[in-house]
Amino acid sequence: MHTCNSSKTPRIIGLTGGIGSGKTTVCKLLAQHGFPIIDADEIARQIVAPGSPGLQSVIRLFGQQYLQKDGHLNRTKLRDYIFNDPQQKDRLESLLHPLIRQQILKEIQFYREKENEQACPKWVFVAIPLLIESIHDGQKPDYLDEIWVVDSSEEDQMRRASKRDGQSTEQIKKIMNQQASRKQRLQWADRVIHNHGDLKNLQDQISTLLENA
Ligand code: ATP
Repeated sequence: MHTCNSSKTPRIIGLTGGIGSGKTTVCKLLAQHGFPIIDADEIARQIVAPGSPGLQSVIRLFGQQYLQKDGHLNRTKLRDYIFNDPQQKDRLESLLHPLIRQQILKEIQFYREKENEQACPKWVFVAIPLLIESIHDGQKPDYLDEIWVVDSSEEDQMRRASKRDGQSTEQIKKIMNQQASRKQRLQWADRVIHNHGDLKNLQDQISTLLENA
């Protein structure tokens, strides 16, 4: 692990990629190398956990029909509702994005404070599946130093995601069409992790990248 001193702070890396590109797999490998991962999807779930202020705000905005009897948000129903309605999607995102950002900043701060300790991470990764889609002003989020993109061919994305989720390639294709294109994502990439081979290839690539970066 990288040793910190007062002039060094961890670099904060946004890790992104399309559906089925291999982000989760890459995050696991980075974690095995000892790097902290902040998971924006996990945070997005936490902020609408049963009883949370985030959940109360969502229900206030969209209605009681999205609250399950067990106190959980009915995410599938809400996702279906906003899927084809950009205006409702914007309403939900305007509510949730600031809460997600706040929590990401809190977790980054936690790792920054390790500066005072003997060992601290050289990089902290923030896995944000829809990072590129959330950029509206031509600027990456100000808390990120770099963006690393996990890149796969569309054929690989469809094959892997449909095998994992049991969804048809048409369903995966529909989701892909709502996401940024490969080209758009790559335009933001400070580094690209090419996930075109097998897992061994990916492992080797990560090891080399971490040694040389
Ligand atoms: P999503 O955004 O849909 O959650 P993801 O980008 O996190 O997807 P993963 O879950 O990491 O993608 O990968 C999708 C599937 O493909 C998983 O089942 C994973 O094990 C598999 N996979 C990823 N990369 C490879 C690879 N190089 N070789 C074989 N299988 C892979």
